[in-house]
Amino acid sequence: TGERQLLMVYHRLPYEIREVNGIREHITPRSPNGIIPSLMGFFSQGRSGTWIAWEEVDKPGKSLRNIYIDEKQYPHLLAGRIGLTKKEVELFYKVFSKEAFWPTIFSFVDKASFNHDHWDHYVRINRIFAEKTAAEADLGANVWIHDYNLWMVPGILRQLRPDLNIAFFHHTSFPPADIFNIIPWRGDIIGSLLQCDYIGFHIPRYAENFVDVVKSILPATVLEEQNCTERFLSYSCPLGVEKMPRLIEAGSRQVRLGAHPIGVHTAYIKELYEKETTTELVKKLRNQLGKDKKIVLSVERLDYVKGPLEKIYAFQEFLEQYPEFHGKVELINICTPPAKGMKIYDKVQQELEQAIGKINGRYSTIGWTPIHFFFRSFPFEELVAYYAVSDIAWITPLRDGLNLVAKEFVAVQGLKEQHKGVLVISEFAGVSVEMGYALRTNPYDKKSLREVLLQALLMEEQERDMRMGRLFDSVQYYDIAQWSESFMQEMEAITPLQFHS
Ligand code: UDP
Repeated sequence: TGERQLLMVYHRLPYEIREVNGIREHITPRSPNGIIPSLMGFFSQGRSGTWIAWEEVDKPGKSLRNIYIDEKQYPHLLAGRIGLTKKEVELFYKVFSKEAFWPTIFSFVDKASFNHDHWDHYVRINRIFAEKTAAEADLGANVWIHDYNLWMVPGILRQLRPDLNIAFFHHTSFPPADIFNIIPWRGDIIGSLLQCDYIGFHIPRYAENFVDVVKSILPATVLEEQNCTERFLSYSCPLGVEKMPRLIEAGSRQVRLGAHPIGVHTAYIKELYEKETTTELVKKLRNQLGKDKKIVLSVERLDYVKGPLEKIYAFQEFLEQYPEFHGKVELINICTPPAKGMKIYDKVQQELEQAIGKINGRYSTIGWTPIHFFFRSFPFEELVAYYAVSDIAWITPLRDGLNLVAKEFVAVQGLKEQHKGVLVISEFAGVSVEMGYALRTNPYDKKSLREVLLQALLMEEQERDMRMGRLFDSVQYYDIAQWSESFMQEMEAITPLQFHS
């Protein structure tokens, strides 16, 4: 096809492995709405490439041969597997990345801890990824690296292969300079990232934060800026900015930057919403919940970053202040458990369960339970029914890179003919700058949480339909296909076969 070869460096494989009667099978991930299918989409168009990721092995250093992921559907795509032991993955991903980087990225500095031996391990794993990529790449290939787990890959890869076009996307937030700079290895990380040709973030503010960090480490100049008010909010929105840096020069290199807020697969969501099983489940849920009750929905992974406790305490205050809503409003809180072995979340879970127990114990009646707490993950299809049946999505993370749940709620509610719901979104979720027609709330302020919830509960139908209609248009336009295409366009625009200094 004449397109450059594409190497996807995403630490997870695009499939899971299951053993049935001793035979290993590949199964595609559970949520077909996620980013993996959209990234795989590039390879169904005939483009050749390799997906570089780790796979668990029993002994360190065991090498794995390349295999097809799905030879029929993707005849030119290989899985370039890196063999890592369970211990190696745990230390690199579940321990170090979550102890040092995760809290810093989301501005929870007091939760961050920095262990230099763990950092050495992280760099070693990143080197393995870079070496594997270098070995698989054709001359002048495009390399797309994903997320903070692989921050050190661009620098090592550039040394090994100056001919490659290297792009990086951050799936998280990117913190302000004074926060990022608590990382003892900030210079190494920034030095590595500056070896990219292109760096993508969800929203302009994160690109601006990145440039501030660069400037605090070495002299840098912004060569090109872009006005971003057309697409993103800039005023009365803590994460909004008017202009974003698009091209910077630092350390004799020029790096292009861009904002690509991830989207959802709106067509697929519509398909699920229109399924008979969904319609039936929505009806059933409505009947069980009671037709006269207002349903407030919260969906989040268990993580202090999502502010689950702050929300529950605010809901308690709401119930205290507005007894007229007793029996009339129910909070459905779907909380997905974190990956196994993430000890850092145990305490949040305990506190959360205790707080919910107390509130329900205090206010429940035979016909009314204020909080329905589900500590488990729902299949996406079922989640669609919950999105449809709810009157309000109350999405209140303390920080969030973007937040897909908000977009999914809109993608479902916008399909309704009438009685559309209200989106309440945290000002500190990246998605808030795209959501001018949502109600925004400050999750650090209990008063804001409960008063904005009240406002959502009292909103008239006409206003609800108008707001949701506008939100739906934007979610539908900037869907997941737009996201991946816009990023790919930027990658294709990197000057080909240019040997980088
Ligand atoms: N999700 C799901 N089942 C659940 C809860 C969540 O499939 O029970 C999915 C949800 O549809 C969304 C994703 O998990 O696509 C969460 O993404 P988001 O960006 O909101 O948060 P993250 O966990 O990535 O920080």
